[in-house]
Amino acid sequence: MSHALTFEVLPSDTPTPAAERQAILAQGSFGTAFTDHMATIEWSKDRGWHDARIRKRAPFSIDPAAAVLHYGQEIFEGMKAYRGEGDRITLFRPDENARRFNASAARMAMPELPEAMFLEAVEALVRIDKDWIPGGNGSLYLRPFMFASEPFLGVRPAHQFTFCTIASPVGDYFKNGPKPVKVWVSQQYTRAAEGGTGAAKCGGNYAASLIAQAQAQQNGCEQVVFLDAAEHRWIEELGGMNIFFVRKDGSLFTTPLGTILPGITRASLIELARSQGIDVQERKYAFDEWRADVESGNVTEVFACGTAAVVASIGQVQFEGGSFSIGNGESGPVTSALREQLLGLQRGKLPDTRGWVRTLA
Ligand SMILES: *Cc1c(COP(=O)(O)O)cnc(C)c1O
Repeated sequence: MSHALTFEVLPSDTPTPAAERQAILAQGSFGTAFTDHMATIEWSKDRGWHDARIRKRAPFSIDPAAAVLHYGQEIFEGMKAYRGEGDRITLFRPDENARRFNASAARMAMPELPEAMFLEAVEALVRIDKDWIPGGNGSLYLRPFMFASEPFLGVRPAHQFTFCTIASPVGDYFKNGPKPVKVWVSQQYTRAAEGGTGAAKCGGNYAASLIAQAQAQQNGCEQVVFLDAAEHRWIEELGGMNIFFVRKDGSLFTTPLGTILPGITRASLIELARSQGIDVQERKYAFDEWRADVESGNVTEVFACGTAAVVASIGQVQFEGGSFSIGNGESGPVTSALREQLLGLQRGKLPDTRGWVRTLA
């Protein structure tokens, strides 16, 4: 029950041999390779948080009646560990992930995890699996998550949960340099409504978005853009990234919080841009206006942002019955500059004046 819970460390008895690990790291794929360990903490209504462990990564044994399998009580986070100059290992604003995890937990009627425990789980896992952090432009993607493990078919918040963090080495998202992506604007499906779970990072939001993402791919696009649920008119965000627009005068705007996921990349870019005197507004923006503004030249660049891709320029927009292009097939100058600055900060190449970078001891 104590918040000063310490992790019992049980190192794997079958760690991946170094040569095999090096071969996996050299592949640099996303989400298919995993490190040797995981962090787990159990929660029950009676005992609170207990049994914090760093142990060998292994399948869970869960009851077929586990509540997550029926009613979907599940939340997650996404963050990265970087290997910088002199083998310095860093995390970027991990306290923001801990805070958002608890905001998601509260919305999904799940127990909150003390922020210090969230951070210790992530850091202890990174420490034991530090040889899995790729150098260069790669990183170690960290996936903290929590699910309802109680075997119970009644409908109420579960009385038993499992928290876990796993880690996956990832290569450079844009292997051949950042290339603008094509997006599909879904005018049929929406991901979030007022009062719903749009601001929570829960698996259910992704389950609901996959059909639209599949439609995007059928239309030759990499990502889907969602409009609001009430009017199918206001731009919200992509399946897993927020969206920014650049005006011809260099100012920025992005869609407001509410039904979108409050991205840490989004918040960081707003702060970075404002600190350089760039005007950034958070405002509602209709799909019609977007088209008109691109056609008239008022909007010159558009980009998506999130932990995985950092900043990805949007070059083409397709929808039922039409399409339009933005820019000349390259990332625009404002997008590229912001991308370089954020990457520089995250990788410790630019001075961190805001206390955003956390170095692991
Ligand atoms: C995680 C996520 C984002 C991006 O958040 P970051 O904190 O910047 O990684 C954006 N939209 C959705 C739907 C997400 O799940």
